[in-house]
Amino acid sequence: MIQFPKSADKAAIKDGVVRAGSTDLTERRHLGLADGPLIDLRDVADLDRIEWNAGGAKIGARVTLAKLAADEKIRAGYRGFAAAAGELATPQIRAVATLGGSLLQRSRCWYYRSPDAQCLKSGGERCLARGGDHLYHACFDLGPCVAVHPSTLGMALMTYDAQVSITGAASRSVEALLGDGADPRRENTLESGAIVTAITLPPPEAGERSAYFRATSRVRAEWPLVEALARIIVDDDGRITSAAIAVGGVAPVPLRRAAVEAALVGKLAKQSVYEAAARNVADGASPLPMTGYKVDLLPATVLEALERAHETAGT
Ligand SMILES: Cc1cc2nc3c(=O)[nH]c(=O)nc-3n(C[C@H](O)[C@H](O)[C@H](O)COP(=O)(O)OP(=O)(O)OC[C@H]3O[C@@H](n4cnc5c(N)ncnc54)[C@H](O)[C@@H]3O)c2cc1C
Ligand code: SF4
Repeated sequence: MIQFPKSADKAAIKDGVVRAGSTDLTERRHLGLADGPLIDLRDVADLDRIEWNAGGAKIGARVTLAKLAADEKIRAGYRGFAAAAGELATPQIRAVATLGGSLLQRSRCWYYRSPDAQCLKSGGERCLARGGDHLYHACFDLGPCVAVHPSTLGMALMTYDAQVSITGAASRSVEALLGDGADPRRENTLESGAIVTAITLPPPEAGERSAYFRATSRVRAEWPLVEALARIIVDDDGRITSAAIAVGGVAPVPLRRAAVEAALVGKLAKQSVYEAAARNVADGASPLPMTGYKVDLLPATVLEALERAHETAGT
């Protein structure tokens, strides 16, 4: 049975599995990882709208990634975020996948998605990837589960102080929504029966420059090996007054990189500063036997994002 509620209030949504673009959910239902009646968000009012209030954007949870990437005002105000939305997955996926689903999608770990395996995430006793094939897993070993958080846009939004609106619960930052990776069974802190209705971005700041970059392999090019969002604010004297650097594909949650940010703030926005700052990105990394290559990829990935951000000056 599929329900199509017209309202996002809790009573309308209870007792079911929420469906947005279904690019993740359909596969998990086929694998027996998500069951129960479907609650499709198609008819819920206003979830597919982008509103502008006091210079900031309020983006409905059902806005598609393609729409985000193409929206002129989003591209102008939040360039790195728009680029991330336009570069992840494939055009076919972006046409139907939504902002809310992108944040709340579940892990792509092949053990979790295998009908023949039971791991910590699917109710088993141990992590099968640690002693098995973890080629695309974490290089920051932060929790019992070493799958990387799948959300590119979660990573990107961590650099924007975005706030997430949720039915029946307090709004929260994207960091708070994605959690700390300590609970291997979940990738977010969303309360049962709640839905994400919108993401609010503060107004863009003067002197803001931002860009997204991902390192990919030919074999699995739709997914990043590692990815980065660099967002810096540069004053009229060419000095960096604020920096937010996030990386994904490296840990059970996307990570802000404080050491890179600290090495940027107060310095002139120029190549040598970017190079020195990017070298700090893998501080604290604890790779698994097969993920040391990610530690090697990270500095160049962050440097490329910084260089691309630099080039967006005045555009
Ligand atoms: C080949 C391929 C490559 C990909 N590459 C990337 C990539 O590089 N980066 C990346 O981030 N993703 C990538 N993806 C994943 C893709 O982005 C997600 O599948 C998609 O964003 C999920 O959005 P959806 O609207 O289809 O969500 P759905 O599949 O509908 O839902 C996903 C989950 O979120 C829940 N949900 C959805 N919306 C809400 C809401 N508003 N409130 C509460 N719960 C909700 C659902 O119940 C479900 O559990 C890739 C996918 C494929 C197939
Ligand atoms: S990495 Fe996580 S999802 Fe993968 S096998 Fe280990 S516990 Fe399961």
